[in-house]
Amino acid sequence: MQRERQPKFAMISILLTVGAFILFVLATIVDSLSDYSNVLMVAGLALLAASWGIYFIGGRSLQRAEVATENVITVIGCKGCDIREERPFSEGDYVFKEIGPCKKCSGTSYIRAIYAISIKKD
Ligand SMILES: [Zn+2]
Repeated sequence: MQRERQPKFAMISILLTVGAFILFVLATIVDSLSDYSNVLMVAGLALLAASWGIYFIGGRSLQRAEVATENVITVIGCKGCDIREERPFSEGDYVFKEIGPCKKCSGTSYIRAIYAISIKKD
């Protein structure tokens, strides 16, 4: 869903930039608008700033989407029972690391496995 938004961001950004240039051209070329040229310039600058802002935000969410295409999962097991839990990977996790008492039997629970799942749709 996030990836479908990227072309829209780019489109809006391009449209705003084009709008800004049209305003600049009108302000400089059309004599009858010379009274409003300052207003048109400011409006054009505002459009340019908006287009850059949208482009920046769109680019950032694209980066985030790329990072989120892989989910790393830590599987927790127990030496005393057959409990199996999964949680998102956190820094410092490694296989066979002991992580304190088990919730179920208060035996020693440890990291059984760490794996990555791709959440890319294609
Ligand atoms: Zn246990």
